[in-house]
Amino acid sequence: MFTIEQVLQPETLEEAYQALHGNISNTVLGGCAFLRLGSKKIATAIDLSELKLDYILEPGKEIEIGAMTTFRTVETHPTLHQLFNGVLPKSVSNIIGVQFRNVVTVGATVYSKYGFSDLLTALLALDTEVELYKGGRLPLEEFLQKSFPKDILTRLFIQKNARKASYQSMRNSLSDYPILTIAVSELNQRWRIVVGARPLRAQLASKASEALSNSKLTAEDIEQSASLAVEELSFGSNIRGSAEYRKAMCKVLVKRGIMEVLQCK
Ligand SMILES: Cc1cc2nc3c(=O)[nH]c(=O)nc-3n(C[C@H](O)[C@H](O)[C@H](O)COP(=O)(O)OP(=O)(O)OC[C@H]3O[C@@H](n4cnc5c(N)ncnc54)[C@H](O)[C@@H]3O)c2cc1C
Repeated sequence: MFTIEQVLQPETLEEAYQALHGNISNTVLGGCAFLRLGSKKIATAIDLSELKLDYILEPGKEIEIGAMTTFRTVETHPTLHQLFNGVLPKSVSNIIGVQFRNVVTVGATVYSKYGFSDLLTALLALDTEVELYKGGRLPLEEFLQKSFPKDILTRLFIQKNARKASYQSMRNSLSDYPILTIAVSELNQRWRIVVGARPLRAQLASKASEALSNSKLTAEDIEQSASLAVEELSFGSNIRGSAEYRKAMCKVLVKRGIMEVLQCK
């Protein structure tokens, strides 16, 4: 179990940021579900709950999601059910149970770049940007690929467009961590195929996505793109599944994802 010496509830992000850098063990708190699994000794725990970061807004051409928004809010948000064929609510709906999803936060999940993350896989198939307090706004893909100085994730932005999407995951049992996560999307004949829980973190299969975008979408093209995704990405083994099993499942789920997007209205 983790321990906390003192809790700070900053009133500004600058105060939170300064506190984060005040001591190496100072730590930002999300819903604490993951933190409590560890044994970290935290000098100052920085609780962001006074900063009004728990919201989903649609100010114009974007959806804005605050870092302290819970998975349950994502799961039940009416607009998110309508957009992208409900891919975001679907991605979080199998994680443990409702009480758990009422607690865990979007900001912690994205900032921590968990390999097993269902939400990250779905977000990467959309036009998503993250905002770091000091690091500013950048594409999610860039955020996942590079490392950045310690910061606070404040918001996510997703372009509100007509992207069609599908989310697939495979688990040994309903509430277990996923063995593999797949998100496929299409906008203006440009496709994105994303594979996560390999068990490495979600990654765009860029060659497979490109090949599919330039194809006539025949059964053979779909088969070939699914094979390309398996070839270009790396897969590993853990207690949930072997690399070979993941590769076999990747091909099946990518095909399923593409077929589902083709059926979307
Ligand atoms: C038992 C268990 C099973 C799980 N199963 C799944 C699963 O099947 N699929 C899945 O996708 N996820 C799963 N998760 C992960 C879960 O969905 C959350 O991603 C995870 O718990 C982190 O969210 P939190 O709000 O609890 O973060 P916390 O535990 O509070 O924080 C996690 C880390 O994020 C940092 N942090 C928090 N907020 C911010 C911020 N705004 N900016 C910068 N850093 C921040 C914290 O300092 C900490 O290092 C599971 C977690 C647990 C505990």
